[in-house]
Amino acid sequence: MTKDRGYEPLVGTKAVWGGEEEYLVQGATQVPVVHSVSFGYEDIDHWHEVALGRKKGHIYGRNTNPTVEVFEEKVRLLEGAEAATSFATGMAAISGTLFTLLSPGDKVISIKDTYGGTNKVFLEFLPRFQVEVKLCDTLDHEALEREIAKGCKVLYLESPTNPTCKVVDLERLVRAAKQVGATVVVDNTLATPVNQNPLHLGADLVLHSATKFLGGHADALGGVVCGSAELVEKVYHYREINGATLDPMAAYLLLRGMKTLHLRVRQQNQSALSIARFLEKHPGVDAVFYPGLPSHVHHEIATKQMKGFGGVLSFVLKGGLAAVRRFLPQLSHAHLAANLGSVETVAGPPRTTSHVECTEAERRAMGIPEGLIRYSVGIEETEDLIHDLTQALDACSGTEEAQFETIHPFSS
Ligand SMILES: *Cc1c(COP(=O)(O)O)cnc(C)c1O
Repeated sequence: MTKDRGYEPLVGTKAVWGGEEEYLVQGATQVPVVHSVSFGYEDIDHWHEVALGRKKGHIYGRNTNPTVEVFEEKVRLLEGAEAATSFATGMAAISGTLFTLLSPGDKVISIKDTYGGTNKVFLEFLPRFQVEVKLCDTLDHEALEREIAKGCKVLYLESPTNPTCKVVDLERLVRAAKQVGATVVVDNTLATPVNQNPLHLGADLVLHSATKFLGGHADALGGVVCGSAELVEKVYHYREINGATLDPMAAYLLLRGMKTLHLRVRQQNQSALSIARFLEKHPGVDAVFYPGLPSHVHHEIATKQMKGFGGVLSFVLKGGLAAVRRFLPQLSHAHLAANLGSVETVAGPPRTTSHVECTEAERRAMGIPEGLIRYSVGIEETEDLIHDLTQALDACSGTEEAQFETIHPFSS
């Protein structure tokens, strides 16, 4: 990446150049997509050495692939990790990591506000393997610390959370986890490595749904896990045997997307903050959740551990679900869809996006109002997005609903 070995480039330069050098074959300036499933060897002793991992090289596509390796290397550099491995999706990375680290009789502690799919792994799958799961109130650091002090194998965190943008103090909880020898895993999808590096705050593993901001174009699924060589090797071994391998074409699309990661994320940080400020003052909006707002319950923690506050915010419309039904189709510059972190703005209610896996009762228990809107800011012009929101809010002003949903995400 750099011929000056003593110099460490900044995040944007790593996003453009990181991990590619060795793979630019025959003068190519772009990483090739290697579709080959297997890799041949003339010398069977050399083949054997590679198979045993003693020499560099590739054997079979479920295990490693050159294009996939560049993707892993780029994320590794961005997170400042010793090693990285990848998965077919973010959920494969999350479940693969949890099933790597946990055995029957172990305990995992997490928060109630993890991504909907992650929450399902905690509530539906891990208990079947006699793993004890304790999900704490995301905003109650004292309760989390008390629970961690009782001992656990894994502490699994996500910050900011999706969709209510809650923030947990990573350094503080890492400290508690270290006291009991727990492994700390952090889902850094919403923050991105541009805004937050959990490994620098003491976490053991950081993971991403690369489908979101890393790829940034909503055209490829992927997941990635970074950390120490020792831990990542274990996670990789689980993946290589269980088989949720990242496809080389998806790896290429993610790599191409990542070249503009820093530019996109900086624009999204700026736009999201402007939009959050605008919505907070709008009479048609009941509440806005964005870590960059001084009104956010954990604004100070966010300021301490993040370089930017991210491109995702959420807000509650006056008028509840009826208002949401009227508001969303009015937006001209937003896909009404399930993903986030794309170049296009994406909006939707949690019941069809992050928490589609949950029942209404489960969402209610998590403090997610049916009338909440998640708004993932794209890279459009900020003024146009504010104009779009203004006209959509005007169109649904005065919407009343007899049974207005009054749950507040921060009231628990
Ligand atoms: C989307 C998402 C996931 C799951 O990723 P997939 O690539 O869809 O499997 C996990 N965590 C967070 C925070 C997400 O937004």
